[in-house]
Amino acid sequence: MSDALKPLLPGSSLGVLGGGQLGRMFAHAAQRMGYNTAVLDPDAQSPAGLVSHHHIHTDYLDAAGLKQLASVSQAVTTEFENVPADALAQLAATLPVSPAASAVAVAQDRAREKAHFVKCGVPVAPHAVIDTAEQLAAVNDNLLPGILKTSRMGYDGKGQLRVTTREQLNAGWAQLGQVPCVLEKMLPLAAECSVILARGRDGAMVNLPVQRNLHRDGILAVTEVFAGNVPADLAQRAVAAAKAVAEGLNYVGVLCVEFFVLADGGDVTGNLVVNEIAPRPHNSGHYSQDACDVSQFELQVRTMADLPLTQPRQHSPAVMLNLLGDLWFAKQLGSDPNSSDPNSSQVEPAWHDVLALPGTHLHLYGKREARVGRKMGHLNITAATPETARHTALQAAAILGIAAF
Ligand code: ADP
Ligand code: MG
Repeated sequence: MSDALKPLLPGSSLGVLGGGQLGRMFAHAAQRMGYNTAVLDPDAQSPAGLVSHHHIHTDYLDAAGLKQLASVSQAVTTEFENVPADALAQLAATLPVSPAASAVAVAQDRAREKAHFVKCGVPVAPHAVIDTAEQLAAVNDNLLPGILKTSRMGYDGKGQLRVTTREQLNAGWAQLGQVPCVLEKMLPLAAECSVILARGRDGAMVNLPVQRNLHRDGILAVTEVFAGNVPADLAQRAVAAAKAVAEGLNYVGVLCVEFFVLADGGDVTGNLVVNEIAPRPHNSGHYSQDACDVSQFELQVRTMADLPLTQPRQHSPAVMLNLLGDLWFAKQLGSDPNSSDPNSSQVEPAWHDVLALPGTHLHLYGKREARVGRKMGHLNITAATPETARHTALQAAAILGIAAF
């Protein structure tokens, strides 16, 4: 075994940039295997910081904070896509960092991301890069109606505008502050799916089964994973495309690749289009915590620590329901709909009733305050058959006030 691939064994300390729920679940997975964890996040109450051995609350680019993280960690990863790639690059001077700053920088920029997909030979939505007024004026009419997306810092549908006419396009770019954008043709979607893979420093790759995802208002709402959730040939092509994207980045770590499946009439070859990548575990992979023998967070630990990657096995059909802050504001009997206090009708969801359903696994992120659209937790539902998993998930959704799917 070469020195470069000497594994970091349990007892070592693993650091993570970002203290959100993904960092928290990473910390849980690492600690279960006997690692210590260190989190850098400016928020003193960050979900991951609250459960870690070390919590450094400084800004991501604070030199002293980064130095402290490096001093208490033997390797560092990120859980937050918009962490400055510079911070990763600085840390990489003294310890192993995965994924690399160069890969994260591609994922942070839609224009670079799309160029990378094209380079890897995977189909992308017809699009145009708009950095300047000249590029805006030169946009081809056949990209309308389309979605104008800021190249950087967008997430959960934020930083996006739907535009139908040239006038709307021009006004939209102004509204977004004339920052660099990508205009994508609006595609007729039959479904959305994603692939999560892990790639080791030695190039070995394993993947979770293809997830089928339902978004509502630009935010993931439901993920379903079981045999037949997407046609087998499509699943195969999605996995192959995801692997090509990871290879092309010489990626190390956990990567999520999101896809659109086009409805008939889509004009892109093969009806499968790569949408975007996330250089970290992903919301659509949370089911793996309860439905697979190796979760996406354990994969992250393994890639960081240079431990062997074995192909995960899904042992139960699964449905994941995202638990957004909205559920805390469900209309309650007897509440005053005209009350001016936004918290007056805040009520804890009926966990007791949900957990009475067999195969429900509740995950909450320890966030103190529920807000509309905020990811507070998720509910994994596992069962012996896809039908039972779906049936139970629909029962849970009805109890929680999540629309049926
Ligand atoms: P985010 O970074 O916010 O996740 P996405 O680019 O993934 O942004 O867009 C969010 C959602 O909007 C997608 O999951 C999809 O439902 C819808 N969407 C995005 N781009 C397109 C498109 N070109 N055609 C149709 N729907 C789209
Ligand atoms: Mg997305």
